[in-house]
Amino acid sequence: MAKMDYYEVLGVPRNATDEEIKKAYRKLAMQYHPDKNPGNKEAEEKFKEINEAYEVLSDPEKRRMYDQFGHQAFGQGGFGQSPGFDFDINDIFGGEESPFEDIFSAFFGQSFRNSGRSSKAKKSRGQDIRADITVNLSEIITDKNITLKVRRNEPCSACSGTGSRNASSPTTCPSCGGRGQVRTTQGLFTISTTCPRCHGTGTIISDPCPVCKGDSVAEKEVTLTIRVPAGVEDGTRLRVAGEGDAGKFNGIRGDLYVVIHVRNDTAFERRGVDLFGRLKISFPRAVFGGQIEVATVNGKKKINIPAGVQSGYQIRLRGEGLPDIRTRSRGDIFYEVHIDVPQHLSAREREILKQYATLIGESF
Ligand SMILES: [Zn+2]
Ligand SMILES: [Zn+2]
Repeated sequence: MAKMDYYEVLGVPRNATDEEIKKAYRKLAMQYHPDKNPGNKEAEEKFKEINEAYEVLSDPEKRRMYDQFGHQAFGQGGFGQSPGFDFDINDIFGGEESPFEDIFSAFFGQSFRNSGRSSKAKKSRGQDIRADITVNLSEIITDKNITLKVRRNEPCSACSGTGSRNASSPTTCPSCGGRGQVRTTQGLFTISTTCPRCHGTGTIISDPCPVCKGDSVAEKEVTLTIRVPAGVEDGTRLRVAGEGDAGKFNGIRGDLYVVIHVRNDTAFERRGVDLFGRLKISFPRAVFGGQIEVATVNGKKKINIPAGVQSGYQIRLRGEGLPDIRTRSRGDIFYEVHIDVPQHLSAREREILKQYATLIGESF
């Protein structure tokens, strides 16, 4: 398509004064402003043309070159080789969009914000979410699958996460024509910045989904099954990638962090992968020793009591502790021996014990 003559675009004679050009431009810019012509492609094209024409004709140097060389003065891609300034206002204002909005508002005499009821369609990563679960110590000897319910954002089923009433409704941002950047001219300056209407995404929701109100996501309770690794420590935060909130407008999901609380339902004290417990044995067992059955976290096991064992002695049962979460090799159980003193004796027990006491020189 051949480019229209810039003077014709603005409807001014070739000898128009700067003031006449400015006046014509303001009038046309107001008339074809995308906010006044939502969804009108023609108006959008016209608006772009008007801006381009003004960008050149309002600049004495560019206008002189245009008068002399026509469109060739600026090459194929617009004003790449042209004199003057072209910069991204975000570089100056540190990414803030508001200064530009102010300039833009002043420029057009109307606010660019709150234009229509359209909202931005910004694809974003979903939030990370947290869930807490409690498992018993006796359950983490092996990996354990835990089913939990979490509330999280899911893509709205009514609009398939698009936020629009129907997927075919126009969502190209009319302000920037889908480019996500807008350019305008003030005197010598050509300012290009993130489009304040679509926030650089190039799309807006013109007809919001009635279910999610254009938000594209809705909170739902979902049931998940996660694998709790054997030997997990109390308070461990388990990251489950991609199970957090759904991203808006079908953006990627956040992560789920599951904080695992380990409730000690055993008689043992946990120290890392090792377990510590008390072992009550009778006085004769302490004297004669021998094999007995003891409780572990995994049923009963046999251990050997050395003859003549003293109170406080530790007996180690190897490989019956908790698995190391990384190496999976299991720790040990340590039993501290306590010699049980009987509190209720039968007459016969009492008699025999007294005889024994007499033998070792005790008298009562
Ligand atoms: Zn835009
Ligand atoms: Zn929806």
